[in-house]
Amino acid sequence: MITRRNCPICDKALPDVQAAADRHFPFCSARCREVDLFRWFDGRYAVVEDIDPDLSMEMSDFPHPPGSPDR
Ligand SMILES: [Zn+2]
Repeated sequence: MITRRNCPICDKALPDVQAAADRHFPFCSARCREVDLFRWFDGRYAVVEDIDPDLSMEMSDFPHPPGSPDR
């Protein structure tokens, strides 16, 4: 039985050959794999839901909102 997989980041359907190649599995590309990695590093994986990979990459550049007080 063949199970269709989707990329957990962008929800793009993964072709069977992609799983066989196992290069970025279970992601569709190295980009999505890195996005997943950044989410774990930021410790907010559970918070992020439908954010676009590009947007997620930009957000990772700003760990603290500008203008926020230290305490
Ligand atoms: Zn993807």
